[in-house]
Amino acid sequence: MPHDDFPPASVWLVGAGPGDPELLTRKAARLIAAADMIFYDALVGPAVLDIAAPDAERISVGKRSGRHSKDQATIDALIVAAALSGQRVVRLKGGDPAIFGRTAEEVAACRAAGVTVRICPGITAASAAAAAAGTALTLRGEARRLTFVTAHARAGEKLVLDWAALAAEQGTLAVYMGRAAATTVAQGLIAAGRRADTPVAVVVNASLPSERIIRGKLSSLAFLVETIGERDPTMLLVGEAVRAPARVAARRGVEEVAS
Ligand code: SAH
Repeated sequence: MPHDDFPPASVWLVGAGPGDPELLTRKAARLIAAADMIFYDALVGPAVLDIAAPDAERISVGKRSGRHSKDQATIDALIVAAALSGQRVVRLKGGDPAIFGRTAEEVAACRAAGVTVRICPGITAASAAAAAAGTALTLRGEARRLTFVTAHARAGEKLVLDWAALAAEQGTLAVYMGRAAATTVAQGLIAAGRRADTPVAVVVNASLPSERIIRGKLSSLAFLVETIGERDPTMLLVGEAVRAPARVAARRGVEEVAS
């Protein structure tokens, strides 16, 4: 190992990126290869896990494929117990661990048990989705603010978001876990004053071979997500910055390359 940053009995929370194994950082790949035990989420692809040592233990703790996910307290306890038994533990998460990744809980659990824990950042889904759509997330003079928001409500609870703040002009929204709530998101934003014709790019399975990009307007968001499978990770990007690239160019007086 090039550094002594992964001694036995320690934990790394590692961002696996959006799915394409080439979008792993070199550091993430090194840590995965060095781990004795890997606790991974459902959105971490098999190609990423292939980097692990052949004798490393791989433990799925994510929900999907109809299997029940472990609750957060159980995951915290498993990670801590693995580290305390002397293992080098990687907790592998989709995208960036710091974004909708329950990282705070896991760091706190490790610290409380006296276990050394570090974080390796990853490429978040919003970045991969924008890249897939061929757009930026900000746009000079038109999108000065970028908001990462989750549209996931707890089971049985109503989605409560600050629609007025989210609807403010000159902002791009990257909505995580938003497919099921797409209708609510569009209605909430439009009711709070966001233009119905605000550009939207819906990106499914960003960076994976099954990637799909669906473009439209905020008013048609419910329709845009209709054909997306329940299990396909979906990013909703909303705002002027995600307008189709040719249209951005046209509005800016750059030669239009497509109609
Ligand atoms: N920590 C992760 C986000 C976890 S929340 C990150 O930084 O990306 C899970 C949500 O992320 C999914 O419901 C989806 O909205 C989004 N997501 C993750 N991977 C994605 C991908 N490859 N394509 C599109 N959206 C993705």
